[in-house]
Amino acid sequence: MVTPHARMGRQEGVKKVGVVSKPYSAESSAAQAHLRSLLIELMRERGESLAEFGATLARTIDTDRQPFSRQYVYRLKVGQDPITVEIAQALQVLGAMLDGVNELQARAHYVRVLAIHPLPDDVIVLGRPRGCELAGCRIQFVPASPAQRYCSAECRREADRRRRESTE
Ligand SMILES: [Zn+2]
Repeated sequence: MVTPHARMGRQEGVKKVGVVSKPYSAESSAAQAHLRSLLIELMRERGESLAEFGATLARTIDTDRQPFSRQYVYRLKVGQDPITVEIAQALQVLGAMLDGVNELQARAHYVRVLAIHPLPDDVIVLGRPRGCELAGCRIQFVPASPAQRYCSAECRREADRRRRESTE
């Protein structure tokens, strides 16, 4: 996973807690052992109990996520349950934050986007994507305003036309 802070020359700090910056499979046993030691180190550095760290992990994955149980975090810690890809990503975010990378940069990841307006490099998009509500339009977009339901004026007009047609 290439993260913005890696590109911003914070690599050294990130390495301190053993975060790898290159993609790897969370499935290999070496990767699992590495992730377990990162988990243990994070819990110690943050001074959190199993239950507290379960809540921290869940919140890092998604703010609405239910906390992981104390028992589950224990099983991850001792290797009875594998560390999933989403938990591995959360551990890396927490590791980067521990080294002073701000939370927004630590949480952000690179994706390919199609932009309408000129965007600077490393711009952080805060909005969530949604699908155009016109039946048959498959475009996903980050709305320009919370009320926007269609990807374009064309789709909005077409939806109006279909509504009128169905009521005539
Ligand atoms: Zn559309």
